[in-house]
Parts: sequence; C-alpha cells; structure tokens
Amino acid sequence: MRAKRDPNTIRLIAVSKIVPADLIREAVAAGHSLFGENYIQEARSKIESIGRNNISWHFIGHLQTNKAKYAVRLFDMIHSVDSINLAREIDKRAKKENRVIPLLIQVNIAEEATKYGAGTDEVISLARKIAPFENLSVRGLMTMPPYFNEPEKVRPYFRELKNLQVRIQGEGIPNIRMEELSMGMTGDFETAIEEGATMVRIGTAIFGARRCSFSEKEFGHG
Ligand SMILES: *Cc1c(COP(=O)(O)O)cnc(C)c1O
Repeated sequence: MRAKRDPNTIRLIAVSKIVPADLIREAVAAGHSLFGENYIQEARSKIESIGRNNISWHFIGHLQTNKAKYAVRLFDMIHSVDSINLAREIDKRAKKENRVIPLLIQVNIAEEATKYGAGTDEVISLARKIAPFENLSVRGLMTMPPYFNEPEKVRPYFRELKNLQVRIQGEGIPNIRMEELSMGMTGDFETAIEEGATMVRIGTAIFGARRCSFSEKEFGHG
C-alpha cells in the first residue's frame, strides 16, 4: 500500500445521504457496518427502518442545536461539533439519555465562507471549553477542505489538520483524546490516508453520483 499504513487503523465510512434504505441494506448484507448521514430527519427514518444491530451510524452533516437531541439518540459519533453552544446542547441531551457521546471537532481548515467548522486558531480553545463536559468525549478532528479536481492540491489542508492534531495532543488537555482524523472523500481519500486520516468518508465511489451540488451550507443542514 502506497501510504505504508496498517489498513486496520483506517475506517471507511459509507456516506449514505440521499441513498435509499434498500441500497444501504444491500451494503449491510455485503458486510459493511459503518455509515455516515448528513440530515437528521432523513437519517431518523432510515435508521429506524434499518436498525442498529451491528451497524454504526455517524453524523457528519451540520448539526443545528435544536436537533441535538435527535443526534444523541440516533448516532454513535458526531463529526461536526464546531461551537461551544452546540457542544453544551449535546452534553445536556446526552446526560438525559445517560450516554457519553464520542465526537470530533469540525475544523474549517481553509476558513471558507461556505463551510462550517471552527477556525484553526479557535480549535484549541474550543477543545479546552468542551473538555469539562462529562457526557462528551472528544476523539479528534474532522474537516472538509476546499474542493479541487486534483487531490495533490488538497494535501496541504490534510497536512494542516494533522499538524493541528499533534499540537492539541501536545497541550495535554484532560478528557481530550486526539486519535481520530476524519478527512478524505471520494476524490481525495488516498491523499488523506497518506496524510494520516483514520476515517475516510466516501459516498459517490460506493453508492454512485448523487443529484445535488456540493456546497455544505446549501445542503449540509441537519
Ligand atoms: C457527502 C459527504 C461526503 C462524501 O462525499 P463523496 O464525494 O460523495 O465521497 C463526505 N463528507 C461529508 C461531510 C459529506 O457531506
């Protein structure tokens, strides 16, 4: 393998937004057990129909605070925490459900106006603020870098997320684990793996093209 990585350290999240439940069931029957969803309402009906027996569901879309309670009930991990208000709400809901929610801090690595995520210079202070919440468990970072046709152009952003991970690890913040890097999609996952991704989020290459464009703020709403 080109990246010289142990494949057991990289998890493939099959991104099943807009994909009908039957197709997801086929993927489950074929042996896949980890799925990523972007929209709470859509995910809710699919998860209720497909179930959670030996299946992990990760929330990867933008989460509005008023939907945090559903995210807590439905998902095994939330990749898109980018503000203290959202973290506080997830913690509150998780407490009611008697759960500790594993989450990632979403970083807007190129500071794009069209993307969600904490700015790179805010991430450490956000991690410090989230650390005391007893029903949250920070596990790492997630990003959606700018889109390019050439994966090489995305490499510096993946590298920057990796550097940020190492910096936060170095801070030694109690209750903050930094083992996960969720980065890489259909067009650039190989580069992401070379740069240290532990989770790649792949939709198109698994389920085929979706009929929608790619602005997170237009389509990423929970
Ligand atoms: C849709 C989506 C993906 C998957 O994108 P593909 O290019 O279809 O692989 C990954 N991450 C997030 C956050 C997404 O919204």
